[in-house]
Amino acid sequence: MKPKPLKQQIKLELRRLFHSMDVISRRYLSQGGRREKEVQTYYNIYQQLGVAWEFLALQCRHWDGYRRLRSGQQACRICSKIKETLEHWVLLPASKPARIGAKRFPNSRRTFPTRQRAMIDSGHIRFHGATLSVHVHNAYKSHLLRGKHAINVAADRIVHLREGDVECWVDSNLVHVRWKKAFHKGKELPYGAFPSELPKRILKHFPVLLEYDKNHNLVGVNILKPAHTPKRK
Ligand SMILES: [Zn+2]
Repeated sequence: MKPKPLKQQIKLELRRLFHSMDVISRRYLSQGGRREKEVQTYYNIYQQLGVAWEFLALQCRHWDGYRRLRSGQQACRICSKIKETLEHWVLLPASKPARIGAKRFPNSRRTFPTRQRAMIDSGHIRFHGATLSVHVHNAYKSHLLRGKHAINVAADRIVHLREGDVECWVDSNLVHVRWKKAFHKGKELPYGAFPSELPKRILKHFPVLLEYDKNHNLVGVNILKPAHTPKRK
């Protein structure tokens, strides 16, 4: 089933939310004869619904315009937010970049016995249709590839971004861009070549490897990140 467009989904969620707020307010907050403790509980629920309102309203783009209130202010027809008030929330500011987590790097020279224990950070997000994942780990012994004999996996910070068919992978040594379809399981591994039109003495400053399939279609580009060694004169 196709997901609803964002506008419709936000409208529906907000309508339900406003209904819930009305119910709490009418039935439990504005009628007398309840114990104080009970009223406090419903008051808290009302406040929490208010937080949910704030979150949902952050996604509203005020598509249907504003209606004028008796106070003279204008409120969004969908989310009821007052026009020209600041839209922000601690974690998800509406007008600044969203910031989730801190930038971390490997932090130990030890080789850990398992991947799990070497892991420092690992996260995955789908953001407006693009997917991004970040893994940061110290060195560890892996049994995955060679069966009985463990191999050492070096400490690394790996960032992986996918937009449609294009994948980009960045780690401490390599920037790898590739077209995902070209790397399907069962397909032959691509060939690699350096851009040979450049003379050799220049080529060493261009550590770029082009990847192509057997029909000579470009399927990826590898860029070896230059080591940060001072230039010799
Ligand atoms: Zn709105």
